[in-house]
Amino acid sequence: MKSWTYSHLEAFETCPKRYFHTRVAYDVKEPESEYIKWGNTVHKAFQDHVSLGTPFPETMTAFTSIGNQLRAINGVKHCEYKMAINRAFKPVDWYSKEAWSRGIADLVIETPKKLILVDYKTGKRKVSEQLGLYALYAFAHYPAVNEVQSGFIWLKEKKIDKETYRREDVPELWKPFLTRASRLETAFKEDNWPAQPSGLCKGWCPVKSCPHCGVK
Ligand code: SF4
Repeated sequence: MKSWTYSHLEAFETCPKRYFHTRVAYDVKEPESEYIKWGNTVHKAFQDHVSLGTPFPETMTAFTSIGNQLRAINGVKHCEYKMAINRAFKPVDWYSKEAWSRGIADLVIETPKKLILVDYKTGKRKVSEQLGLYALYAFAHYPAVNEVQSGFIWLKEKKIDKETYRREDVPELWKPFLTRASRLETAFKEDNWPAQPSGLCKGWCPVKSCPHCGVK
C-alpha cells in the first residue's frame, strides 16, 4: 500500500474505481480544473505574504487583512510544512519508504504554549476531519507540544472554523482514521476497486472507460 493522505481517503471513499485509475495505476490523468489552479495560486500568494511579506496580487487584495493577521502572530512560522509518519505513528522523513501517512500543513506557527495549524480553503465551507488528522501529525512531529489549535480559513466566506486538540485525545482521535485507512488497505490487498456511481459520473469524472461515465 502506498502512503495515504487525507485527500486520498476522501477520493477513495467517493469512488474506489476513480481513485485507482487516477492515484494508483495513473492510467488516467485528473485534469487541472480552473478551481484547482486558483487554489494553488492563492496558496502560493499566502506563502509569499506570510514568509516574505510579499503583497498579494491585485486579484487577491481582499486577503491582505487575513495575511497580515497571520503575520502578526508571535511565533516561528513554517509555510507548506510537510509531515509524514510511519505505522508506529512516529515522525519520518517526507520521502522515507517507511512513510505511512502524509500531509502538508499550509502554515504551522510554533508559539511557546501551543502549535497553531492553518489551512486556507478556497472552496465552499463544509465539515471536514482534516484538521484532526493534521493535529495528529503535529503531535507526532512536536513531542513537547500538548496543545494544537487548528483552523480552516474559508476565504470565500471570510469565516474561520477553529478546533483545539490536546495530546491526551490522540488515541481517540486516531480511531476514525484507522478505520478509514484500513478500508483503503483492504482495497490494496484485494486489488478491489469497485465503481461507485454518483453525480460526479455525469461530466465530472475523467475515467471515460467506466460504464457509468456520462450516465445520469
Ligand atoms: S464514472 Fe462514476 S463510477 Fe465510474 S469511475 Fe467515475 S466516478 Fe466512479
